[in-house]
Amino acid sequence: MRPPAAESGLQIPHAAWLEIRLGRMGSNLDALRAHCSKETDVLAVVKANAYGHGLLESARALQGRVRYLGVSSLRELLTLKENHIEAAIFVFGRLAGPEIRAALLDGVTLSVSSLEEAQEIAVVSAGLGRKTPVHIKVDTGMGRFGIPFREAVKVIEKIVLLPALEIEGLYTHFPTAELDDGFADQQLSDFALLIQALAQKGIKFRYRHAANSAGILRHSHPLLNMVRPGLLLYGIYPDTTLKSIIQVQPVLALKSRIMLVKTLTAGATAGYGRQFSAKKPTRIAVLAVGYSHGYPFNAWRDAEVLIQGKRYKLAGRISMDYMAVHLNDDTLPRDEEVTLIGENQGDRIGAEDIADWAGTIPYEVVTRLLGQLPRIYL
Ligand SMILES: *Cc1c(COP(=O)(O)O)cnc(C)c1O
Repeated sequence: MRPPAAESGLQIPHAAWLEIRLGRMGSNLDALRAHCSKETDVLAVVKANAYGHGLLESARALQGRVRYLGVSSLRELLTLKENHIEAAIFVFGRLAGPEIRAALLDGVTLSVSSLEEAQEIAVVSAGLGRKTPVHIKVDTGMGRFGIPFREAVKVIEKIVLLPALEIEGLYTHFPTAELDDGFADQQLSDFALLIQALAQKGIKFRYRHAANSAGILRHSHPLLNMVRPGLLLYGIYPDTTLKSIIQVQPVLALKSRIMLVKTLTAGATAGYGRQFSAKKPTRIAVLAVGYSHGYPFNAWRDAEVLIQGKRYKLAGRISMDYMAVHLNDDTLPRDEEVTLIGENQGDRIGAEDIADWAGTIPYEVVTRLLGQLPRIYL
């Protein structure tokens, strides 16, 4: 998005923006593929505005390189289709009745979690004279969508009889893929048993998949031939223990500028709640990022930013559109670039760090980054 004054030839610098290195998404994809067998296809997950990275730009960067792009809602699907994304799209979510008709477009594959849902999709498909590709989801322990594992054979035997569906895949999902606690392994062995039991009844699936990002690295199985990476594609680790297994590069950086530098007199306080007080005359800088941009309010006690390769701590709480940092004894100019997420002269702050400071997960940090923040694609 161009700033309004651009038309008059005046370039107004952004006060806060995201820099997105799409090339890194490609190399992260390569790094993930290196962990999979050669026959493995990739369903690249671009839900939630591609984890904050921009749905369309990410889709354009990934299409042609993966079997599917994965989204969770009809709205995301339609955005991709209206913008002429050619890739086949997989929709994870449960679509409400009238949404099914709108979703049945060429190159769309739906997820099915029950006989009723399968019947509903089959009826709409038949009405449109189509055959809709679906992947059947089985709940082996996530406790969310999916046919309960114990009922799966019986239910799937009925679903495969529905003529307007093309049964293309069978999948499940891990709640603890990052751990080696045996739970995911149990899920995988249940899932493998199911694949084999159905195969004995002549029911076979072109695609069989279970692994999200962490699952790709920790839990593979020879019967699986598709993976569903999200977070690691964007160069963010779901868990720090995975850093020793794979090298990925963060795609996204969050930046701002110093809006103002000022000196607080001894005893003066800064910010709502007066949580920061100057023990001696103290220089602070105000940045144009606040919690309304998606930077988590709860991070303020531990948060740091990078300016000219040095780390600075916040001075008090984060405001809606601003935060202040404590400059120690340094002199820094107005308009100086500030890195809140990303690399700066050899140092780096990751979405993982912000998640730690805020007591949340990196998924939440990136998916909350405001949609309207200017995204600059490099
Ligand atoms: C979001 C999602 C993924 C991707 O998970 P990551 O941990 O980001 O890799 C994979 N599968 C399903 C079903 C999902 O909903």
